[in-house]
Amino acid sequence: MKIAVFSTQPYDEAYFEKFAHTHSHQLTYFEAALTPNTAELAAGFDGVCVFVNDRLHRATIEKLAALQVRLIALRCAGFNNVDLAAAQEHRIKVVRVPAYSPEAVAEHALALILTLNRKTHKAYNRVREGNFSLNRMTGFNLHRKTVGVIGTGKIGVAFCKIIQGFGCRVLAFDPYPSDALREMGVEYVALDALFEHSNIISLHCPLLPQTHHIINAAALSKMKDGVMIINTSRGALIKTADVIEALKSRKVAYLGIDVYEQEEKLFFQDLSESVIDDDMILTLNSFPNVLITAHQAFFTEEALNQITTTTLQNISDFDNNDVLKNEVKIV
Ligand code: NAD
Repeated sequence: MKIAVFSTQPYDEAYFEKFAHTHSHQLTYFEAALTPNTAELAAGFDGVCVFVNDRLHRATIEKLAALQVRLIALRCAGFNNVDLAAAQEHRIKVVRVPAYSPEAVAEHALALILTLNRKTHKAYNRVREGNFSLNRMTGFNLHRKTVGVIGTGKIGVAFCKIIQGFGCRVLAFDPYPSDALREMGVEYVALDALFEHSNIISLHCPLLPQTHHIINAAALSKMKDGVMIINTSRGALIKTADVIEALKSRKVAYLGIDVYEQEEKLFFQDLSESVIDDDMILTLNSFPNVLITAHQAFFTEEALNQITTTTLQNISDFDNNDVLKNEVKIV
């Protein structure tokens, strides 16, 4: 099949080339994100391959349909950026990579927690500059702290296992609780109870209408003073303006985010020589207790291998009229 690969970074192309011997598809790489304005680039292609910040809203999908595009292959798990109803109406199939090393994301959530808590990023800079002082470097033991996990799917489960290893009590909220986690001692509780009792809250649920701004002023008001919030899931789970107020009032003592509500305009680009026109990320960046990474939680060799091979298999399945194991359908 002829596939237009959007939002291509050098590593995407390198991994697709690594597995080029496994298929006969023709991949053409575009740096541009897929939006209504760039959809014309898909002319002459059977399918598009896209990532987290490509915008497959109705307007884009209508353009793709007019160009006879028949497949949208997401090289990610989340599909909140795709108008599934529009795709279905236009008979465009949508496939994704449902699981690629959930441990990669769970381990990154841990990296955010440990860095924020023990300030290793600051220690690195201090010591290199000959500053061996420990002032303002105090952390806290994770042992015996209560950690709230919102969403216990593949990544949430991996995260629960890791954090239990630190000796934490784990509270969880998920509309579909896991019996295996219960047997491991994870306690499922109502969302309000999780907010009330957790020292650390880590988000691992998808972005859905029900989870949009699940962390807002009302939720924050129920939390412990000094709570740590970690988001490696999707930016719009947190209402950024509200969390900024909660950081200012010291309700939130630590914020670690790998995703950001307005990340489409920023992430995956080198803007170091640009004026950044986003006051909220500038405010967040000015706080000493905020740690932001640019959607890199998935970014391990194991995950990239899995993303690439599953994406290519999804395209082959479509091409061969096989069952689409990883099709995304409206539920
Ligand atoms: P998953 O589908 O295995 O699990 C999601 C869980 O969330 C399910 O158990 C589901 O029941 C639960 N859930 C649904 N609605 C909920 C609600 N209202 N409240 C609480 N829980 C709810 O997904 P996963 O593989 O664990 O991935 C989770 C999310 O992580 C993805 O949707 C994606 O947004 C994000 N993600 C981020 C990165 C990254 O690099 N930062 C990489 C991969 C995935």
